[in-house]
Amino acid sequence: MKYRRLGKSGLKVSEIALGSWLTYGTVTEREQAIACVRKAYELGINHFDCANVYGAKPHAAEEVMREALSPFPRESYVITTKAFWPVGQGPNDRGLSRKHIVEQVHQSLKALGVEYIDIFYFHRYDAETDLEESLRAVDDLITQGKILYAGFSEWPADKIAEGVRLQRELGLHKFAASQPIYNMFERYIEAAVVPICETAGIGQVVFSPLAQGVLTGKYRKGQPAPAGSRLATPGVNQFMRVTDEVLDKVEQLARIAQEAGLSLAQLALAWTLRLPNVASALIGASRPEQVEENAKASGVTLTDDVLSRIEQVLAN
Ligand code: NDP
Repeated sequence: MKYRRLGKSGLKVSEIALGSWLTYGTVTEREQAIACVRKAYELGINHFDCANVYGAKPHAAEEVMREALSPFPRESYVITTKAFWPVGQGPNDRGLSRKHIVEQVHQSLKALGVEYIDIFYFHRYDAETDLEESLRAVDDLITQGKILYAGFSEWPADKIAEGVRLQRELGLHKFAASQPIYNMFERYIEAAVVPICETAGIGQVVFSPLAQGVLTGKYRKGQPAPAGSRLATPGVNQFMRVTDEVLDKVEQLARIAQEAGLSLAQLALAWTLRLPNVASALIGASRPEQVEENAKASGVTLTDDVLSRIEQVLAN
């Protein structure tokens, strides 16, 4: 496993990170979830992602992660969590107010069984709360040692710029991490988010790099989704639109992968990691074998020829 610096921070994270959304604390059996996390750790993955809302109830995925990581020394892994989405019906059970952030960080620390969270993310931008209030709340938590680094997820470029400017003006701790979606079919960050983050020293931790499993080649045109797969699981958030056009491209990409001696999943992950601003490709996994296959994408450099053939497929 290779490691990269998260933006200009001193933190080193594994090129492949493992997340818990839609899997741990929900559809993936507890033992299986623990096996995935421990397999990842064994393969050198040191970066594990949670959010307060992941799992069947608030903090459920964090509790699974706590058990999975319990045999390992705290200093050897990076654990992240987030707040923003509703965790209850109360007026302060959501958003980025100082109250909600502090409350959720305390609950996450308890669920994860740790004394500090390595990276805390604002899960989305909160238009209802003054940005300075949210930034100061996290800054205080950093000063108290409860959080080490701050980040945001899926913020519009102008809000990132505003946050960076405010942190500079107010002398607050700077953002270290950005967590956006990024894969061959979802590339909006390339134009605006990456340039701002590069300038500000913020690293990308990109989620759904396999387009929720579509970029593994497991879904095929005219065939039902394999039993037990995400797309075959009712009630699971499948935001990827798996059209025939997408599946045609997947087939062509699978041929490029095969010729490059890689699985399609490995090609797709190495493709996201071609950008130096990407620190980790943040995968999900429902089985340890998936972690094993995906981890092998670390350290793979795609040739110019392979990269341009991928561009041709994606452009058509
Ligand atoms: P991926 O694109 O990596 O999809 C993961 C899913 O693809 C797995 O659960 C598995 O599903 C399938 N898969 C993975 N590897 C393989 C393989 N080698 N062969 C076959 N199938 C495979 O990422 P996710 O969409 O799961 O997101 C990853 C993480 O990113 C989340 O856990 C979360 O931590 C974070 N995230 C953050 C968001 C945010 O708003 N900040 C939003 C979404 C995710 P299955 O076996 O069930 O088919």
